[in-house]
Amino acid sequence: VGQLDEENGNILPVASHGDMTDYLNSIPVSSRADVAEGRGATGTALRENRSVIVNDYLNDPMTAPWRESAANIGWASAAAFPIQRGGQPFAVLTVCHAQPHAFDEEAVALLEEMSIDISFALDNFDRETRRMASEESLRLAASVYDTSSEAIMITNADNQIIAVNPAFISITGYLAEEVIGKDPSILSSDHQDEAFYQAMWHELNTTGYWKGEIWDRRKNGEIYPKWLTINTVFNEDSTIERRVAMFIDISQRREAEQLIWRQANFDALTALPNRQMFYDRLDQDMKKSHRSNRPLALMFLDLDRFKEINDTLGHDMGDVLLKEAAHRLSGCVRETDTVARLGGDEFTIILNGLDDLNTVERVACSILSKLAEPFHLGSKIVYVSVSIGVTLYPEDATSIEALLKNADQAMYAAKNKGRNRYSYFTPTMQLAAQTRMQITNDLREALVGNQFWIAFQPIVELGNGKICKAEALIRWQHPQRGLISPADFIPIAEDTGLIVDIGEWVFREVTNQVSIWRKSYHPEFQISINKSPVQFRDENSAYINWPDQLQQLGLPGQSIVVEITEGMLMDASDAINNKLLAFRDAGIQVSLDDFGTGYSSLSYLKKFDIDYLKIDQSFTRNLTPDSEDMALCEAIIVMAHKLDMKVIAEGVETLEQRDLLIAAGCDYGQGYFFSKPISADEFEALLQKA
Ligand code: C2E
Ligand code: MG
Ligand code: MG
Repeated sequence: VGQLDEENGNILPVASHGDMTDYLNSIPVSSRADVAEGRGATGTALRENRSVIVNDYLNDPMTAPWRESAANIGWASAAAFPIQRGGQPFAVLTVCHAQPHAFDEEAVALLEEMSIDISFALDNFDRETRRMASEESLRLAASVYDTSSEAIMITNADNQIIAVNPAFISITGYLAEEVIGKDPSILSSDHQDEAFYQAMWHELNTTGYWKGEIWDRRKNGEIYPKWLTINTVFNEDSTIERRVAMFIDISQRREAEQLIWRQANFDALTALPNRQMFYDRLDQDMKKSHRSNRPLALMFLDLDRFKEINDTLGHDMGDVLLKEAAHRLSGCVRETDTVARLGGDEFTIILNGLDDLNTVERVACSILSKLAEPFHLGSKIVYVSVSIGVTLYPEDATSIEALLKNADQAMYAAKNKGRNRYSYFTPTMQLAAQTRMQITNDLREALVGNQFWIAFQPIVELGNGKICKAEALIRWQHPQRGLISPADFIPIAEDTGLIVDIGEWVFREVTNQVSIWRKSYHPEFQISINKSPVQFRDENSAYINWPDQLQQLGLPGQSIVVEITEGMLMDASDAINNKLLAFRDAGIQVSLDDFGTGYSSLSYLKKFDIDYLKIDQSFTRNLTPDSEDMALCEAIIVMAHKLDMKVIAEGVETLEQRDLLIAAGCDYGQGYFFSKPISADEFEALLQKA
């Protein structure tokens, strides 16, 4: 048997039987048609894939290369039969015989059958080898599928589940028979919206592939995050044969990440944001402040004498105190502010979106008083205080580092001044804060100290110059500081709630006065009183309401006008509206003060019953013929009249302004041109003259 050497086309003996077989190794035999050694029986049989019979070896032209040697060893005939493997000639069975014409039909048939049998056996052998190899790889694949910790789910072209592996069962909680034939959507939760699934299917349908994080629902209802990869297996015609989804449960990883995140950003003892988180928040809040144009305050706090407590009562008690302090600090700020612990007994607070600086002081004062309350540490009661440094963004600094340095410096200033206090970074702020604090304290004494008095400013009927109305404007005669403007102390009175008592005092003074002037001067005399929104909001006021008080005094409602500002109408609750209605019922009129500086919303004018519109002095100030303010004044007056309101112009300082207002049809004027706000005595003198 000779086998083809693919490299050079030679046919080499691989098995032989009989006499002189050594000889076979010494003769050249080829399968190529272009050499004589390839055109013998063996070469031709292989090349042409057919039996070749040479019955007269010594004379046949095919055998030329070997004739001489064949004669020497006594061969006279030969027959060659191709052996195939996988349909291709692979080897040749060549039989030689000492007699010429040894291969008759019967012998050839027998040998052909033999070579076919060998071919068949070879093919069988190959098939078996392949089968064994593929069985092995299937076994391997199955063991991967079964033992994988990754869940595997296979769906068909109709998106029905056709197979799942054990990891799938353990992750989802579903048994194979519960999901086979179902749509994979039975696994989904409503954690993702419709758009998410649409995007996923779009990608699957265009690329055949999707991977990402998705939250699904286990059989027990629990939802969990998983990392999912979906691949598509296509048929030859590129239709979908199946999809293979593989996923792992990443809920534990998520929890671990969460834990790490918490540890990295929060203080373990107090659960407050730590330094890291504080920097992040400050950075964000500074950006927000920049955008909204509302300043931000950074406070640096250090507990006074904390070290003493820690050293005498032990660290455990120190920890309890810190936790309690953290809790109290958090209670002093809004949800949107940040209280952080930088370490030890150092805390920081970010107050953002500040509308006015009174907020900073309010918070600082409430912190001082909250931390001054006793701390119960086990059986011991201890007292601590805190020193606070305050700096403002963007006023004092615009970088995190500089702000921190400022606040720290201000905190040390507070410590140096004797602890248990707050201190601003800038001297002017500090001075202003001190003044405000002083005024706040003094304001508490002002009522009992009889330091208030009321100035009256006439409101003149422009048509005839008569004075039948006046506005009451409070004055504070401070024993040391002299006369303090209401613009400076009313906001503080509002912040501290003192405005309620002050307002009632004003009301009583005004009612006394109006009753006198009604008797002695004009029966219709009317005085307007400014009423702060804080007074309206003061639900549990200790005072009986104004209409009832008027009735008790025997005064008609018409003797009083209440001045309110637009802002109050804007956040008007039912409660405020009801109070306004009660005024109306009692005949008390309502005047809208400073009109034109706020929202100037027409719809509010219509909604609430307003009797007078007071055009703000900023309009009156700029009145010249044909000016824009002139046009605005005229428009306001026309509109007010249409809505059945009278108009009072504030801040009339010149004859020209008065005349322009008269020409525009304005009803009343008030301002220095007629008279400054004056004492009751002076006012009476003025009335006498008129
Ligand atoms: P307002 O109600 O708009 O009062 C008018 C202010 O304009 C008064 O200032 C008055 O003195 C001033 N004024 C009057 N005519 C002229 C003028 O021709 N030119 C200029 N430049 N100013 C003029 P005042 O008395 O300092 O009061 C300031 C604000 O304080 C008042 O504004 C009012 O909102 C508030 N206020 C005054 N008294 C009370 C009160 O008893 N209770 C409450 N809640 N607020 C009050
Ligand atoms: Mg007023
Ligand atoms: Mg006004």
